[in-house]
Amino acid sequence: MIPVVIVGAAGRMGQALRACLAEYPPLQLHAAVDRAPSADGGITTDLAAALRGARVMIDFSDAAATAGNLTACAEAGVAAFVGTTGQGSEIESVLQRAARRVPVLLAANTSVGVTLLTELVRRVARTLPPQFDIEITEAHHRHKKDAPSGTALHLGRAAAQGRNREFDDVAVFTRHGIGLRAPGAIGFSVIRGGDIAGDHSVMFAGPGECLVLTHQVTDRTIFARGALRGATWLAEQRPGRYSMRDVLALDSTP
Ligand code: NAD
Repeated sequence: MIPVVIVGAAGRMGQALRACLAEYPPLQLHAAVDRAPSADGGITTDLAAALRGARVMIDFSDAAATAGNLTACAEAGVAAFVGTTGQGSEIESVLQRAARRVPVLLAANTSVGVTLLTELVRRVARTLPPQFDIEITEAHHRHKKDAPSGTALHLGRAAAQGRNREFDDVAVFTRHGIGLRAPGAIGFSVIRGGDIAGDHSVMFAGPGECLVLTHQVTDRTIFARGALRGATWLAEQRPGRYSMRDVLALDSTP
């Protein structure tokens, strides 16, 4: 039995996690946490108390809460599975510190399909010559706060890694007016609207041919199922930093 604390429990992902929890029998709901308590008493705001006696936390809440949640997990000796996106680069040091005491996994996208797509992007970027321009497009519902999506950035990092380039040197987030595409750039385009659950495409546009790798979400419970699978796995690991790649035991050699 693995007692789990769900943070952001009242949100879209929090509800999906609770709905799918029974499919992962080792996991037992220990506590549900959100910013406001629920009238039925099922949701609490006291994370420190909720973590007492738990083995793993699953956090799909708000980027501003990630650092505090990780620190609370490290202090309580609880594994931390973070699906929340939108944190700045300063979260790295908090992750490293927490990973010395507990198993930690931050995944911008917990779907099996995107985990595989990321590996494919890395390989294609490594294999194709630099004449192939890389462009990443993503579309999400109108309620999404961060842009580009954590997944799009993650795919961009995988592409940059495949090319042995520093992501920050090649990422291009805005284009307006007159100006040519910089050689080696990785461009991002963002669409927000309606109830789109999440589409990502990585285009490799070369001379005479164009390769496009696409992932589309048709049911957002895939994120919940991936997170529940990942949390079940993470709870059994030693302290350290892990990724969805480790959960799926993917070999990243080309
Ligand atoms: P949502 O707005 O529906 O839910 C977020 C919930 O978190 C809300 O109930 C809110 O009250 C709660 N919350 C905010 N701050 C909190 C805090 N400090 N402590 C406790 N609870 C807090 O959003 P959502 O669609 O469920 O997405 C949540 C996060 O998960 C976002 O960052 C989103 O980008 C990310 N997400 C990640 C994946 C993935 O695969 N990793 C998939 C979907 C969404």
